[in-house]
Amino acid sequence: MASLPNVMTVVGARPQFVKAAVVSRALAEAGIAEKLVHTGQHYDANMSSVFFEELGLPPVSLSLGIGGGSHGQNTGRMIEALETAILDMKPDLLLVYGDTDSTLAGAIAASKLGVPIAHVEAGLRSYNKAMPEEINRILTDHVSELLFCPSAASCSILEGEGIEAVRIHNVGDVMFDAVKQFSEVARNRSRIMEKLGLEQGSYSLLTFHRKENTDDTARLSSILEGIGRIAGKVLFPVHPRTRAKMQSAGLSAPANVIEIDPVGYFDMLLLESSARLIITDSGGVQKEAYYHGVPCVILRDETEWTELVDARASTLAGASADRIAKAAEGCGRDELEPSNLYGYGDSSLKIAQIIGRRA
Ligand code: UDP
Repeated sequence: MASLPNVMTVVGARPQFVKAAVVSRALAEAGIAEKLVHTGQHYDANMSSVFFEELGLPPVSLSLGIGGGSHGQNTGRMIEALETAILDMKPDLLLVYGDTDSTLAGAIAASKLGVPIAHVEAGLRSYNKAMPEEINRILTDHVSELLFCPSAASCSILEGEGIEAVRIHNVGDVMFDAVKQFSEVARNRSRIMEKLGLEQGSYSLLTFHRKENTDDTARLSSILEGIGRIAGKVLFPVHPRTRAKMQSAGLSAPANVIEIDPVGYFDMLLLESSARLIITDSGGVQKEAYYHGVPCVILRDETEWTELVDARASTLAGASADRIAKAAEGCGRDELEPSNLYGYGDSSLKIAQIIGRRA
């Protein structure tokens, strides 16, 4: 019998810790050896170590400590360090997630060394090349051997771009696995509702951090204006980039907003499921809103998760204050048409099986 492959996984940013938590567990259960490399893209305790502590991720084999620079600087430094790491660890397969600079750096380093790549969350497109994430996803998909897509639509996108069907696997969304696996423990362990004095359904939850919204002062100010028009309390765990940009632009949150530091995953799951509305530009939070059955207003002009808009689980509002206020008013739980848009919460298992079969 052929031996199972040795996997080297590259992570670096908050959403990747959530995705890796469920896949790493499935790999371990399948007996597949994995070494985790943390690039350092996110390094604050509440953006990184809290996820390792809560979600039982494997210990980090190598920490590169690369962050804080421009996209080019970070990606370049990561490629160099990851090349050395790959030569040293000699993996049979390199595993990357999503669309960050860490994803692209891992994909470039491995592809130049002829190491096959598996990409989780493949085939997503916003068709907006001004987004750094769009470039990262397209390039990573096209050098990957195993493309793990969250939906039939993302598989079709890859086929439409000329990628052979044998490389493409519709496994569903690993973030659904995470919501299913961790929601109960989050309910038991998180004390965030008591800590903040919040009642179920009494507030909206806001997160945003995309460059298009934070680095454009007109958009940033318009979003804050729209949020100010939403009825009731709006809880806002502020991403470090958003905080820095609000400060440098001299903008403050409107009076109905309660600002807090980013929270751990358990607190976030509880805050999401207890909210009456979620307002976000985050890909992960858009989907989590749907998994919890909470309506969502998307602070983007387009989304890669188009099924959510088609199913009327989410409404696109861009950065327009009027559209944000109107969408928030029109959202209600009874509008949702729940269905399994992104699989059944067994994506990590399917990924581990496919990786195991590759040996
Ligand atoms: N998240 C969290 N705490 C927060 C904000 C987000 O645990 O204060 C989680 C969220 O539940 C989701 C992931 O972080 O699982 C999404 O990450 P992010 O919004 O940074 O990235 P994106 O999904 O937009 O790539």
